[in-house]
This record gives sequence, C-alpha cells and structure tokens, in this order.
Amino acid sequence: MDAKDVMTHVSNIDKAVRDKLPADHLIDLLKALQSGVVATEKLLRETKVGMSVNKLRANSDKNVAELAKEIVTKWKNDVHLAKNKASSARAAADKPRSAASPTTSQRPITPDTRAGSKPVQSNAKAASDPMQRNKSADNVNCSVTGDKARDSMVGILYDALCIGSNASPDLILSVAKDLENAVFANYKRKIDPMYKRRIQALFLNLKNKSNPNLRARVISGDISTARLATMETKEMASEEMKKENERLEQENLRESMVAKAEKSISDQLQCGKCGKKRVSYTQAQTRSADEPMTTFCTCENCGHMWKFS
Ligand SMILES: [Zn+2]
Repeated sequence: MDAKDVMTHVSNIDKAVRDKLPADHLIDLLKALQSGVVATEKLLRETKVGMSVNKLRANSDKNVAELAKEIVTKWKNDVHLAKNKASSARAAADKPRSAASPTTSQRPITPDTRAGSKPVQSNAKAASDPMQRNKSADNVNCSVTGDKARDSMVGILYDALCIGSNASPDLILSVAKDLENAVFANYKRKIDPMYKRRIQALFLNLKNKSNPNLRARVISGDISTARLATMETKEMASEEMKKENERLEQENLRESMVAKAEKSISDQLQCGKCGKKRVSYTQAQTRSADEPMTTFCTCENCGHMWKFS
C-alpha cells in the first residue's frame, strides 16, 4: 500500500467513525491496513494513519479496539526495527555516533537509509514459552560489538529484555545492542566499574517480574535506549513500586523530623530484593523514647527501601 492508498483508508476510517457505520466496516478497513502497511515514521507522519488508528484503541466496539491495539504495537515494532537497522548500518559505516543524540529518534527513516543494511541471517528463533526465554533458548549469538566483555553485557541485557516477550530475537538483540552501546558511550567508551554497575542496574530493573511494562516499552521503542541508559532507578520502577517508594519517602521525611541520625552504609544489612549487602540506613526515634529505634534502609544497589524496628 502506498501513501496515497493509506490516506484513502484514513479518510474512510474517519468517515466511518463520524457516520457511526457498523463495526464490521471499521474492521475491514483496519485489516486492510494491518496486512498492507509496513510502517515507517515518514509514512505514519505523512498519512496521519498512526493517529487515526491510535484513536480507535478507545473504540466502544471491543473487536475494533483490540485490532487497533494490535496494529499500533506492530507498527511501533516496524518503526523500531527500521530504526535499529538504520543505526546498525551507520555503525557499519564506522561513523562514531553519540548515543544520547536526541536527533536520532526524530530522524525520519527513508528507504535509502534502510537499504544500507543487509538482512541479518540468523538461526535465532524465540523459545516457545515467552517466560522461559533467554539467549540460549532463543539461540541468539550476542557477538555483535567486536569486544568479548561488551558482548557479554549485550547478552545480559538480552536475557532481561526477552522475558515474557513475543518480539523476535533479532529485534530484542538489536535493542540490547543499542542499549549497551548507549551505556558504553555514556561512560566514555571504557569498560570500567561504573559502566558495569550501570548495566547491572539496568539488568535488575528490566528483568524485574513485577515490572513487565518497562521491558515492553523499551522493546516497542516507546522508551528509547538512549533515554533508558540514563534513566534513574526510581523512574524505571513499576507504578506500584513508585507509589510504595513515595510513601516510604514521605514517611522517612516525616519521621526524620522527629529525630535524625547520620546516614551510614552498612555491609551487615542485606537487601531483600537484590541480595546485595550495600545498604544505607538512618535511625529515628519514632514514638516515645523507651520504644525501639526504627531503622530506615535503602539499598545502594537497586534503590529498594524498607524499614524495621
Ligand atoms: Zn537491592
């Protein structure tokens, strides 16, 4: 389908919605778009088809809404894959690129930039149970950076990203590769403890079972790898975790006004979440002086917070 066909479909959809035509009509139009369109940013922008279909996600007819959602996800993947192919092509051309460059995500993908990359031949095939996926189950080769240490980091990120995902191994690998590259660039292109800590933190947050949204949003391109590379642990947390952290922070703040002690780091306390023994804590006399002190703990590794008395 070319841009003109797509635009015709867009106006037919808008008309069908306006005239409240039967849902079957919309479904036919959507199905034609689903099979006929390989999305690029340029096409989505020019034809406004993305906006039009996106609106249908809230359609009162459940089948229309579901199909619209499915199409939006597919197109996001199309665009993301095209973008990753384009960036691999740039890397192959050996141009140093700034990982945090904001222009990367806004650049329209033209057929020219995509033609530069050869299709990747791989034996990769996603494991049948998405929850059991990892680089070995997917038969993925992570030797993509030309450096063994960095490749192993790409592998670590792949293992976290693929959990529960239905995305293709090629797509996940390209996201893992981009993410590692963004972190590497942020740490002056050196494999040092800071770089390793950052990858570790990303791994822990991405694989977090209670935070499937983060993985999905990174794979769909909703959160760019450049953005994720610099994202704070707090931001990566699930909504649930965020609320709990906020509550604890408030409580900490309130209680710290009662009695305050120096923040210290202990290697005796262990984080219940990541198991690391690097925990900072403050103690406060919360109730009357003859009751035990409350200890507020924060894991310096993953940001998990808890308290005990
Ligand atoms: Zn922790």
